[in-house]
Amino acid sequence: MDPAVARETLIQAGRWLDARGYCPATSGNYSLRLDDRSLLVTASGKHKGKLGPADFVVTDMEGRPLDGATPSAETPLHATMFGLDPSIGAVIHTHSVASTVLGLVLKGERQLVIEGYEMQKALPGVSDHETAVPLPIFENSQDMARLARDVREHWQRGAFPGYILRGHGLYTWGVDLGAALTAVEALEFLLTCEFERRKVPR
Ligand SMILES: [Zn+2]
Repeated sequence: MDPAVARETLIQAGRWLDARGYCPATSGNYSLRLDDRSLLVTASGKHKGKLGPADFVVTDMEGRPLDGATPSAETPLHATMFGLDPSIGAVIHTHSVASTVLGLVLKGERQLVIEGYEMQKALPGVSDHETAVPLPIFENSQDMARLARDVREHWQRGAFPGYILRGHGLYTWGVDLGAALTAVEALEFLLTCEFERRKVPR
């Protein structure tokens, strides 16, 4: 993918995600696979609704910067997904209210199972509302190497469409940016449903 086009598509995605409140302040980070050897990742500390062409870093497939700039601290988690599945072309990480709070509400739980929703058919490989879609919940940490290892180990037991970092946010991905944004929109809707249903007295 042409780097200039990649930058522009991520700038537009940043505005779209910001408008929905998924990445407040300077939170969240996004990445695209440029080719077999390099990724484009949002730079550290930038507001995702106000990204410009200079607010990105080109890294190698391990997330190491190739152009001297500082990528997001969470770049290793992006690089991990591109390494686990060669069909992944884009990774998006949000800090939405629902994904942040659900991980805390589900204290001690290792996964959130999505089931019974028509919307889950928007996720890759899910063809009906009765399929149980497990979303792993990983303990939040500033140790990105450890988090990346946790994600890799879980993936070896079976692929998943996204995951929650407890008290932190959501990671999801797609074959390209459009697919990744659809996954974000579907999962954020589903997480909001799970968040809302827990407010209803049983
Ligand atoms: Zn984050």
